[in-house]
Amino acid sequence: MNASKTASLSVFSNTFIVILKLIVGFLTGSVAVISEAIHSALDLLASLIAFISVRISGRDADRGHPYGHGKVENISGTIETLLIFVSRYLDYL
Ligand SMILES: [Zn+2]
Repeated sequence: MNASKTASLSVFSNTFIVILKLIVGFLTGSVAVISEAIHSALDLLASLIAFISVRISGRDADRGHPYGHGKVENISGTIETLLIFVSRYLDYL
């Protein structure tokens, strides 16, 4: 399985988890489960960023980017690191 397929599987599974946690959270009225859904929504955002970045990094070099597009993964990795800090911070609230 290549990186793009793996990333899209991660997007689908995270979407499924968010929807399931929202349904259970609202059916039971559990604030804890709803906050878990928000936590998983941040995971979903991270997996979307990973999906987009592996799609872009796989592109061949072009006029605007003669060394290729691989560096986009460094940028997305940094953004995902910041997202982890955000979700850790939310856990303390
Ligand atoms: Zn380009």
